[in-house]
Amino acid sequence: MLLHVPQLRSWLVCSHVHDPHILCPQCDLLVAIPEIAVGQKAKCPRCHTTLTSRWKEPRRRPIAYAVSALFMLLLSNLFPFVNMKVAGLGSEVTLIQIPQVLVSDDYASMASLFMILVQLMPALGMIFIIILCQGTSIPSHWQISIARNYFRLKAWCMVEIFLAGVLVSFVKLMAYGDVGVGTSFYPFVLFCILQLRAFQCTDRYWIWQQVAPAPKLEMPLRVGESGLSQGLRSCHCCMAILPVDQKQCGRCDTSGHARRKNSLQWTMALLITSIFLYIPANLLPIMITQVLGTPMPSTIMAGVVLLWSEGSYPVAMVILIASIMVPTLKMIAIGWLCWDANSNKEIDRERLHVIYEVVEFVGRWSMIDVFVIAVLSALVRMGQLMSIYPDIGALLFASVVILTMFAAMTFDPRLIWDRAVMKSAKEPQDGGK
Ligand SMILES: [Zn+2]
Ligand SMILES: [Zn+2]
Ligand SMILES: [Zn+2]
Repeated sequence: MLLHVPQLRSWLVCSHVHDPHILCPQCDLLVAIPEIAVGQKAKCPRCHTTLTSRWKEPRRRPIAYAVSALFMLLLSNLFPFVNMKVAGLGSEVTLIQIPQVLVSDDYASMASLFMILVQLMPALGMIFIIILCQGTSIPSHWQISIARNYFRLKAWCMVEIFLAGVLVSFVKLMAYGDVGVGTSFYPFVLFCILQLRAFQCTDRYWIWQQVAPAPKLEMPLRVGESGLSQGLRSCHCCMAILPVDQKQCGRCDTSGHARRKNSLQWTMALLITSIFLYIPANLLPIMITQVLGTPMPSTIMAGVVLLWSEGSYPVAMVILIASIMVPTLKMIAIGWLCWDANSNKEIDRERLHVIYEVVEFVGRWSMIDVFVIAVLSALVRMGQLMSIYPDIGALLFASVVILTMFAAMTFDPRLIWDRAVMKSAKEPQDGGK
């Protein structure tokens, strides 16, 4: 690891005059960041979160990725995206037709979900990257508000999940007819890869350093101790280190507290709501397949069973894991985090932290089934022969995914580590190790 290993002695006051400092956003440990070489990253020694990484050509590379991603997105909206042939009848849709079909079915909410998560958010993200990386030709208050929104919308870009959903719908449709990809499919795959790379190589710490310098701190810093124990907090938006009693960040103007206010209450409220929605989402049909005039409603579980009986075991497993196991485990995990953050029991913090990271990363992938339904219902429109329509269950399921994402966001991961601080205050020789 590249950072200096913090001295775990409370009397050691920082003497790194030139090294920047970061308060780990996940565990609240104060870390001094040494000079890091190109292509390397600095990780938190306690929870192993990546704090900052240094990229080669930090300006030109993201811009190049973002510009080409936008161009690919444009191309993928121009031509047919996927097509299908059943008994001589052909059907072909472009990307832009997918939401149109949903709107005409009174599923405007699902259409806008698709437009926002798969097109609008990623496109905006690319534009923001271009503006943020091209330098100082726009006023700084603009840059600040763009940077603030850029890091907010990152979590809501789901291009790769949509692409996986397209592949799953192909497998589902292979039993009924010939499915194929159109000209637009290839630029869309490139768009997916390019936007992921663009998001990846824009480092939060670096971007904010470019936008504006961090506010000066007139107090000694003790590396290797938690921020809270020395009256400091990390700005959750720009990573600036601020005094705990300062409500508003001097750099990005977001207000915050030492710990997210009412974090556990909010997380629990969102969790309980999502549990209540999750039950009908599983019991009500998510889509209706109409073959030769007979409507056949199917639930999530029925879809898995059907795929399994057709022999598509891997896809059945993907849907089972993404739509049933992940949301269930995620709810259990969030509940566990809340319950444990409230108790004073000695637990394995590292393990809780891993659970939190997995929940944050995997949760979005539950959206895959919603995208599958969007693609299926847009593509399979062959009148009496065969048609697929979305149903209320899909909408409920989408809201469950979004609510659990919010629940994971409102949970403050630093609460997991706070008891370590209390512990080390009692036993100084333990030092948070
Ligand atoms: Zn230092
Ligand atoms: Zn950490
Ligand atoms: Zn800030």
